[in-house]
Amino acid sequence: MSREEMARLGWDACDIIIVTGDAYVDHPSFGMAIIGRLLEAQGFRVGIIAQPDWHSADAFRALGKPRLFFGVAAGNMDSMINRYTADRKKRSDDAYTPGGEAGKRPDRASLVYSQRCREAYREVPIILGGIEASLRRIAHYDYWQDKVRRSILLDARADLLLYGNAERAVVELAHRLASGESIERITDIRGTAFVRRDTPEGWMEIDSTRIDRPGKIDKIVNPYVNTRDLPACELERQSAEAPSDSDEVQLLHIEPGPRQRLDRSHTVIRIPSYEKVSKDPVLYAHASRVLHLETNPGNARALVQLHGDQEVWLNPPPIPLSMEEMDYVFDLSYARVPHPAYGKQEIPAYKMIRFSVNIMRGCFGGCTFCSITEHEGRIIQNRSQESIIREIEEIRDKVPGFTGVISDLGGPTANMYRLACKSREIEAACRKPSCVYPGICHNLNTDHAALTRLYREARKLKGVKKILIASGLRYDLAVEDPEYVRELVTHHVGGYLKIAPEHTERGPLDKMMKPGIGTYDAFKKMFERFSAEAGKDQYLIPYFIAAHPGTTDEDMMNLALWLKRNGFKADQVQAFYPSPMATATAMYHSGRNPLRRLSYKKSTEKVETVKGERQRRLHKAFLRWHDPENWPLLRDALKEMGRADLIGSTEQQLIPERQPDEGYVAPRRKNSQKSARAGKGRLLTQHTGLPPRETTAPRPGKGRNPSASGKAGSGTAQVRRSEANKGKTAPRTGGKGRGQDRPAGRKARRV
Ligand code: SF4
Repeated sequence: MSREEMARLGWDACDIIIVTGDAYVDHPSFGMAIIGRLLEAQGFRVGIIAQPDWHSADAFRALGKPRLFFGVAAGNMDSMINRYTADRKKRSDDAYTPGGEAGKRPDRASLVYSQRCREAYREVPIILGGIEASLRRIAHYDYWQDKVRRSILLDARADLLLYGNAERAVVELAHRLASGESIERITDIRGTAFVRRDTPEGWMEIDSTRIDRPGKIDKIVNPYVNTRDLPACELERQSAEAPSDSDEVQLLHIEPGPRQRLDRSHTVIRIPSYEKVSKDPVLYAHASRVLHLETNPGNARALVQLHGDQEVWLNPPPIPLSMEEMDYVFDLSYARVPHPAYGKQEIPAYKMIRFSVNIMRGCFGGCTFCSITEHEGRIIQNRSQESIIREIEEIRDKVPGFTGVISDLGGPTANMYRLACKSREIEAACRKPSCVYPGICHNLNTDHAALTRLYREARKLKGVKKILIASGLRYDLAVEDPEYVRELVTHHVGGYLKIAPEHTERGPLDKMMKPGIGTYDAFKKMFERFSAEAGKDQYLIPYFIAAHPGTTDEDMMNLALWLKRNGFKADQVQAFYPSPMATATAMYHSGRNPLRRLSYKKSTEKVETVKGERQRRLHKAFLRWHDPENWPLLRDALKEMGRADLIGSTEQQLIPERQPDEGYVAPRRKNSQKSARAGKGRLLTQHTGLPPRETTAPRPGKGRNPSASGKAGSGTAQVRRSEANKGKTAPRTGGKGRGQDRPAGRKARRV
């Protein structure tokens, strides 16, 4: 937005200015568009500053001083994930920028933008939002610096942080500020974090180590130390804080006082301070565990964490939007196109989602490598069928280039629409991290009838030729409803369906909270049966994660043998990406398992983590066992593992003894050379061997959104059937990402 646009609207000033790291696309897949349109519908004048030049405060003054606040977000993804690969290498492109150009946002964009807003207008409140702020709301492990960072609230020096889906919070905040309330007094909105220096009157504080004891009792600092002798004090403090490896447990007997009844709504849980969690991995894992236990809006309590002399206070998560509220948000008047200032430049993320429809939010899967629950929550928020149908019609009638193909009807997971706990009361009291792990909870309603009905109604629409499902499918749920699988396979698979077993071995699967590979086999049987009945040649594309915490070299070797046995060859492989706040990231950093009670005892379960460059390469190499470039590394590893018997040329062996003749070109390279010359009617690809698809259909994994949401996605490997039509090209299957691996989409989308 520019001053000229403001003048055309007759505005002398904006009430609220939103600063974002993404290009502005007026579409409900983009968090800033939702928040902007929502505030506009509430009568506020909202200006957007998209991808400003952050080198000075000038660009932040472009729309003048906002009357109420600056809303700052890094964009649909964490800016570090947007800018760097899982191997910490700089990316050469950015899906959220016109022309896909890289470098249009800074590292840690929320911090940088906040500082510039402060420089531009010192007295204007700064409100942080978006996925970057949401997932960095307490002290968190930062993969790129390999250390625990403070809550982003403090580093950004923002006044308030809105986490999760922030519609309710932002509307209430705007109205209260507009009515003259000061930002310092607004401390009672759910889904917010702020800094305070004391616990308010009437609140009961519980030490988190009481509800989930990590097994350590802090040493008491020597009370007789000379407090004027600063070096001695410091030594004393350090010795008191240093973690101990000792198994010794001191038992303290404290006489209980009269029993007090706790009021959950006025209870705050004190998690260990930033200073403690940054030094002590066990306490870090404990803090992560407590945070995850306090994510159900039905029973979550406030959390507080000390940083130096400042307390970061987290109110409980937002109450999920009702169906009517979801419809209201999605029915706002979006233009559904990028801002006209970008002209003909294409924004790759927009291109991927322009014909897709988001039907729900949230996920109750609880996969540990994904941070959707920490952001959107695990209670599914659904749109009504009528609202979804209206959006499809709008796409058909309004979006340039629509050819009759809806590229996705989905969300964070394709098939959780209208699924929920059978009882509201049980749901409100539940503290489990997943409704589908270790098995499907008997309280979960798994009837997909509403989704099946939606598919049928959508197919009837005039002008809609095909509807694809590109969001990741939770196949362990799908097999519970064969009629749904039949519907999906018969009408909504564009040749390939991506699903995400993630691994074959129990060890890593348990750390991911994923079902066993047997469930994949059950789904595969169903998929093949219904495909045959429909007379369709269709393929499953399974995804696997390399180097996930809890994965040993042997696990990867067994996965490679499974891939070979089943005739799969992965074309693209990515390793586990430790994104902020995910449980698997806590495992990666601490080497402990926050899914269980933690302790300092040596006998406590330790989690294998894959950190060194060679081991990460090795795990990826096992996924691409068929690529001769990986054979030297695999041969060395197999010998070290005592499995030289797997080197040879029989069917049961994994890799041959010798390299191929000179002149050999790896399939991936050969293919990318081909794709560079791809001509008319031929899709560029990084896949080899999959049969070609209709060119009108969107690419699997590219359909709905540019990444972050799907259950299958980046951080995973995609595989193909090696026996299928060798030599033919096929479209590249996209990397829809865990948590927020790139490029972002549904799950990484909200403010
Ligand atoms: S009781 Fe079961 S279905 Fe209900 S919320 Fe808890 S885990 Fe989910």
